[in-house]
Amino acid sequence: MLITGYRPQRLAVLLGVLLALAPAVSEATHSWGGYHWARTTYSFTLKVGNNMTSVDWITHLNQAANDWNSSASTPLLVSLVGGRSSKRTCSMVAGTTQVCNGKYGYNGWLGLASINITGGVHITQGTAKMNDSYFNLKTYNNPNERQHVVCQEVAHTFGLDHQSTDGSSQNSCMDYFSNTGVNAGSDQSTRPNDHDFEELGIIYSHQDSTTTLAAASGGASAAGVDISDDPLSWGTLVRQSANGRSSTYERENSNGSKTVTHVYWTQEAVQRCRSCDHRFESHSQP
Ligand SMILES: [Zn+2]
Ligand SMILES: [Zn+2]
Repeated sequence: MLITGYRPQRLAVLLGVLLALAPAVSEATHSWGGYHWARTTYSFTLKVGNNMTSVDWITHLNQAANDWNSSASTPLLVSLVGGRSSKRTCSMVAGTTQVCNGKYGYNGWLGLASINITGGVHITQGTAKMNDSYFNLKTYNNPNERQHVVCQEVAHTFGLDHQSTDGSSQNSCMDYFSNTGVNAGSDQSTRPNDHDFEELGIIYSHQDSTTTLAAASGGASAAGVDISDDPLSWGTLVRQSANGRSSTYERENSNGSKTVTHVYWTQEAVQRCRSCDHRFESHSQP
């Protein structure tokens, strides 16, 4: 008798309770507003345009694409293709995600992801930008922080939100663990985890009658939906995390679509006021 006092029936009941609880605990709930690419098949390929200007960023983007393609059951396969944006502006290209890096200035943000939405939920195009003004500084210039941010910004354009924003590590790049300072050498949270793939499976469990994905040749750029270097072009602040590092902005466009932007603020940007709209604070070189 290994476990005295526990009868098999009791163990069975206990196991049943644990099994009943398990789905509630592990259920993924980090869809970004229900936003998703419209597509007519379960499995689909998203063209991700590589506008990166350095070998280093290209390496990190390749790694992110490999990581997001690493699950056998994922509905979304990333296909890295040549970039079709002007490198710094990172204008949108219909049916694709464009990824860019540039010295966007000491404006407070480290990474930015925007998606254009039609019909309330369908993503038609997206961009992800990495701010080299900060990534060239000692604080942020390490492979783990770069990998974490590019993995996250690209995946926002899949329709994924954060698993957490409080700075704890869920060992997913969709969290706000900071791979800086004492954690600069840690590769925690630099890749997607099972929870992220579970969420993608939920987001894309239905099929649509149309597609917003680019045809083989790629789509034409949709006018009037881009955000610019001016943070006011992001629209209205609709959500911000308690620690101030994560904000979401929304803008209604004249063509009836909506542009939604996720902003990943630097540590320095939130030091004075966590609850402020950081666009209206003055930022300078840390
Ligand atoms: Zn749909
Ligand atoms: Zn984010």
